[in-house]
Amino acid sequence: MITFTTGPLPVREQVQTVTLAKGCVLCYQGAKMVLFVTGRCHRSCWYCPLSSERKGTDTVFANEVPIDVPSQIIEVAESMSALGTGVTGGEPLLCLDKVMEYCRMLKDHFGPDHQIHLYTAQAPTDEELERMQGLLDEIRLHPPRECWDTFLETDFLRSAKRAKEMGFDIGIEVPALPGLELLIPALPYLDFLNVNELEWGETNAYEMRKRGYELADELHNAIDGAKGWAAELCRHDKVHWCSSGFKDSVQLRERLKRIAQNTARPFDEITDDGTIVYGVLEPLPGQKDALARFCRERLEPDSFEDCGDSIAMAWWLLEKYSDELPGKKYVIERYPHGGMVVEMTPL
Ligand code: SF4
Repeated sequence: MITFTTGPLPVREQVQTVTLAKGCVLCYQGAKMVLFVTGRCHRSCWYCPLSSERKGTDTVFANEVPIDVPSQIIEVAESMSALGTGVTGGEPLLCLDKVMEYCRMLKDHFGPDHQIHLYTAQAPTDEELERMQGLLDEIRLHPPRECWDTFLETDFLRSAKRAKEMGFDIGIEVPALPGLELLIPALPYLDFLNVNELEWGETNAYEMRKRGYELADELHNAIDGAKGWAAELCRHDKVHWCSSGFKDSVQLRERLKRIAQNTARPFDEITDDGTIVYGVLEPLPGQKDALARFCRERLEPDSFEDCGDSIAMAWWLLEKYSDELPGKKYVIERYPHGGMVVEMTPL
């Protein structure tokens, strides 16, 4: 465990000097890859945030990239210079063989210091813990809401104790729901307890409305009042509050910056948000060769790229030579490494 002061963050986040799980420290640096191993799950939590695209499927995603062959996981981790991986789902223990294969591959490739944590809504058995030993560093238990008031009598406590004896870092990670203070008796048995701000999503919207919950603001998916439900629990120094805003403003941005620094072309501009900006020229029919010649003769070799149907270049060069370059012209801002387009501005 590492003591860590949260910041620089929006004012409402600068509230705790906390003992963060090692996995969370890497997350703050944007250095944690998210490895989604299955959308299957034996539970049906009303607040489940899984998208309909992922729920119930066995598609694997490394960050947002769908994985066809395991070696792609290493490529995604390399692209962001990952220092660790968070294994999530669905329920990862439903495909433990696959999880172990991926963890072994990551540890072999990046070395034993590549920190790996795993979420599970099951209480791992002794046999499962033994299989994970040496390949996983940290286990985050997600006991369902209905067993919070009897946590000390559940298999989760037995698993937590056994995992600790076996050398794992052990914690609980749950969404902010009414009744969080029921987990206070569990704290002596844990290294940390993370509370995720409850978030509105496409698949849980009906259940949220049914309970009368509303969004806290128009910028994030956070539910109004969720922080209040966590207030009593968050007085304890093993407890860390992870806000919806943090996930967007720090975790994602820092991860994007790492990917951009590794993958941006010389003419891509990297923004403070970790997105990249560049110009695109789509030539009119029959003019592609002339435009390619223009670029070769007038521009520095590393300030443009011939992409086949279009030419990508520094956005400011496209703007500068706009009158001399016929065709469709626009400036793109997108996530790095061929990621999601954020904005497209015609010139
Ligand atoms: S345990 Fe997790 S993945 Fe499974 S239903 Fe609950 S929230 Fe969804």
